[in-house]
Amino acid sequence: MAQSSQSIFAQRQDQTFPKLDPAEIERVRGFGEIRFYAAGERLMTAGQVAPGVVVVLRGSVAVTEHDHLDVHQPLVTYCTGDFMGELAQLAGRPALADAVAEQAVEALIISPQRLRALIVAEADLGERIMRALILRRTAILQTGTSATVILGRAEDGDVVRLQGFLRRNIHPHQLLNPEIDAQAKALIERFHIDGGQLPIVLCPSGQMLRNPGEDELARCLGLVQPIAPDRVYDVAVVGAGPAGLATAVYAASEGLSVIVLDCRAFGGQAGASARIENYLGFPTGISGMALMARAHNQAQKFGAEMAIPDEATGLAQGSASSSFVVNLQNRERVSARSVVIATGARYRRPEVKDLDAFEASSVHYWASPIEARLCAGQEVVLVGAGNSAGQAVVYLASQGVKVWMLVRRSDLAATMSRYLVDRIRGLANVEVLTSAEISGLEGHDGMLEAVTWRVGTTGQEVRRPIKHLFLFIGADPNTDWLAGSGVALDRKGFVLTGPETNAASHLLETSMHGVFAIGDVRSGSTKRVAAAVGEGAQVVAALHSFLADKVPKPSVLEHVG
Ligand SMILES: Cc1cc2nc3c(=O)[nH]c(=O)nc-3n(C[C@H](O)[C@H](O)[C@H](O)COP(=O)(O)OP(=O)(O)OC[C@H]3O[C@@H](n4cnc5c(N)ncnc54)[C@H](O)[C@@H]3O)c2cc1C
Repeated sequence: MAQSSQSIFAQRQDQTFPKLDPAEIERVRGFGEIRFYAAGERLMTAGQVAPGVVVVLRGSVAVTEHDHLDVHQPLVTYCTGDFMGELAQLAGRPALADAVAEQAVEALIISPQRLRALIVAEADLGERIMRALILRRTAILQTGTSATVILGRAEDGDVVRLQGFLRRNIHPHQLLNPEIDAQAKALIERFHIDGGQLPIVLCPSGQMLRNPGEDELARCLGLVQPIAPDRVYDVAVVGAGPAGLATAVYAASEGLSVIVLDCRAFGGQAGASARIENYLGFPTGISGMALMARAHNQAQKFGAEMAIPDEATGLAQGSASSSFVVNLQNRERVSARSVVIATGARYRRPEVKDLDAFEASSVHYWASPIEARLCAGQEVVLVGAGNSAGQAVVYLASQGVKVWMLVRRSDLAATMSRYLVDRIRGLANVEVLTSAEISGLEGHDGMLEAVTWRVGTTGQEVRRPIKHLFLFIGADPNTDWLAGSGVALDRKGFVLTGPETNAASHLLETSMHGVFAIGDVRSGSTKRVAAAVGEGAQVVAALHSFLADKVPKPSVLEHVG
């Protein structure tokens, strides 16, 4: 068993660091190639793509994490029979830590591609390896240390944005506040950083980014790779919410080559849900992030390629060999024989003066631990009456936040599931105000200081000192990128499918033969995780039959969006 030097690794040690016995090593041999390393030689460098998972056949390897002040922290030592690696090696992404041979090492290197083949081919062993890779990433996240460092104040809107992006993409990082943290002060001195430039992100490679956009940050961290221009995928899935991830899992597991694009992070709206209690098989509920992270790992295990963040900006018919081209924001193009539109929906914004001014720091569209920490011990306003609003209220209240819940209708039960209505009624720190709406926002420098709302038919106004506003008032379809593509939309902009476009077409096929739509973006779909997942699985049968027989059919409807 590998020796861990950190107490958090003590939990589930045997599953996190399983040892392969000689018979198991023989079974994995065919998937790798032997390499020798001299004592002191590097096997892996943080910020660079490692050759793969390393099975130690002889010798030992020390894994360490370094910060930007050149302090190295031992993480774990791998000995004979252990294998080194975590989720980055499954996806072929840059390593999170450094690894050096403590003594002469003989190792079996299993590349990411061969590792995925091994996990699928060797069911029992594959399950143990996969579980270990996931648990190791979880353990790294729990340490709270990382070579990816955000320097800035926790309440700064850009810090919240950057943290949210890294958290949603399960990328370990740490936040250091120069106002209170000695390490942050030392980094500021060392890199001669001007306080006015914050937030700054220090990447494991040593690169320093000044308040980067998500795309710039992801590329610096190696989370997203350039698209191979001459590659033609069997299917391009646009959107990595539950619908898109389900398609990726089923299509990739059935041998199709799959690329999944998402402009933000995997998980979609479901990934923003604090607790999903109505998804089959989870009687105690599961956080949307946990459910979606499993699906994301599962899709990668079967070889689906993830391009996140990459935003689709257009769809067009391609040449004969590649039926479709998906154009990306960064001017790259994805060629595919079929396309699945799974771009879901985006949050609606109420008509309130100056909302934009507070959007970066004080207005939230989901309630995760990051928002709960920001609001700890405070009063907040939450607008909305659907299940997602109800879940957010229950979650924030459980974190000690006092919630003023503003509902436009006169009765919460008209739009929310019974179990949530009952739960909210039992919460002492939640006030539900029906027939209520926001009428004013006040604050300075992007930070909200007070919210005014109007209640009931009298229009009586109430003003309270409140710094955080949560909006859960529904969503509009993410279909702008389809403008001019020929894909027919309904009046509200949702994608029409099946008989709505052509009596002969598949239930999930759009007006463009070979382009399918699933999940929340589809006109008439049930806006639930289970429905999105079901459609994601169902569309794969249609993909097979389309790919087996690619005879173009005419589109019968014009684009109406
Ligand atoms: C807070 C919250 C709580 C919820 N709780 C529950 C619940 O408890 N139970 C339940 O059944 N349902 C719940 N829902 C609803 C459920 O999450 C959705 O029905 C489901 O996520 C829809 O899945 P989807 O894959 O169709 O779309 P989405 O989840 O919306 O995913 C779409 C994805 O497409 C990406 N995308 C959009 N445009 C582009 C583009 N141009 N290029 C690339 N990518 C793009 C987005 O970034 C997103 O990741 C909740 C929703 C919210 C917001």
